[in-house]
Amino acid sequence: MDPLLFCGNLVLTRTRAYAMRASEDSGAPSFRIVKSSKRAQQTNNPIREFVQPDPPRKLPEGRSLIKLSNGDPTTYGNLRPPKEVVAHLASTITEGVADGYSLSMGSVAARESIATWATETAGGSSTSKVSYSTKDCFLAAGASGALECALGTIADEGDNILVPAPGFPLFRTIAGGYGIETRRYKLDPEKLWEIDLETIESAADDRTRAILINNPSNPCGSVYSRQHCEEIAQLAARLQIPILCDEIYADMTFGSSEFTPMACVCSDVPVLTVGGISKKFVVPGWRLGWILVHDPVGALDEVRVGLRKMTTRMLCPATPMQNAVEYMLSGFSGHLRDLMKVLEENAALTETRLNAVPGLNCIHPQGAMYAMVMVDTAALGFTDDYQFAEKLIEEEAVEVLPGRCFEADNFFRVVYAAPASILEEAFDRIDAFCRRHIVNE
Ligand SMILES: *Cc1c(COP(=O)(O)O)cnc(C)c1O
Repeated sequence: MDPLLFCGNLVLTRTRAYAMRASEDSGAPSFRIVKSSKRAQQTNNPIREFVQPDPPRKLPEGRSLIKLSNGDPTTYGNLRPPKEVVAHLASTITEGVADGYSLSMGSVAARESIATWATETAGGSSTSKVSYSTKDCFLAAGASGALECALGTIADEGDNILVPAPGFPLFRTIAGGYGIETRRYKLDPEKLWEIDLETIESAADDRTRAILINNPSNPCGSVYSRQHCEEIAQLAARLQIPILCDEIYADMTFGSSEFTPMACVCSDVPVLTVGGISKKFVVPGWRLGWILVHDPVGALDEVRVGLRKMTTRMLCPATPMQNAVEYMLSGFSGHLRDLMKVLEENAALTETRLNAVPGLNCIHPQGAMYAMVMVDTAALGFTDDYQFAEKLIEEEAVEVLPGRCFEADNFFRVVYAAPASILEEAFDRIDAFCRRHIVNE
């Protein structure tokens, strides 16, 4: 059964049971049970289901929970946004210069600064520069708001989009709510999670409205080479399907891995690129993201109008943040370098430590703040990755997300943004756990 459906039905069944019990027990005046919409019922987020179980899981006596589960770099307080940015935002608020509404798609100043920044960074060392102007940029409440706006604009109920597996479940959560079908294409762990392009080709049909590409990847921590990006672009051109690119981890790469913005290899494919500040500036709670429209072939005129209309559904994203983004994008490359140095060291620690554990195989991470770890569930005596992750919490108080949340059987995802000392403690526990459970080495 589809794990999303499974989680959703479980919640529904429970909720109904509670409602019935409440009306029987309390003797309160009765009222018919109010139904939720099909849209809400089709909206499921498997990560929330796993990390907020009802009733809560029991932890082992005397041990505090180590969370390597949340894709939130602020969890342990070791990573912070630049001080100057915090001060800038504080003064924006105390001076009351951004208390009102802006245009629904975002203020001209904020969009102009994002368009300029994207024009300067897109293309990297290459000659194939992409040029953006203010009218190409639409702001939203976080990259997730941008994804919702983009998906709601390019596809109708009954249409489909192609999403990666393993992949970030939010794509399916949003699409599900809109009644947009999600079809999987496969990422290959043997090729550091490059796309198996044939699976895109076989999944696409005449109702496919976009190929969703997430690079660098959550949950894989992979970064596509420029050549691979070009292959993706060629395929999209041949299939005549636009690309929707989630680049929230743009420039968050390690070592020799270099980030290639998808748009800069797409000279004959329209691209909507989703970006934001949550991860790079360590401020996921600040909620600002954007869509950039790259339309080298003049195919997106109607989509631009659609995006504009869709942004009017929420009036506008937080205006103090719009004010801050201009300042944020004007500098702070040193801050990103420092952040990536910490994450790269943590990634190396994660890979070394977990590859020394019997039954585990960490696929080499190249960026973002994630790694996917293959679990030999049979050798460890578990039925699947979900049971592995549950037992790891119950016995060792370490929380990782089971591969099932990302449609990756026999994997789990590690977030390595925590301080190295906490990571070491978590890896000690995982090591003890696996050595205790291993059936045949
Ligand atoms: C965190 C994340 C998002 C959401 O970003 P916000 O700007 O906080 O909404 C979107 N896509 C991916 C792949 C992410 O990991």
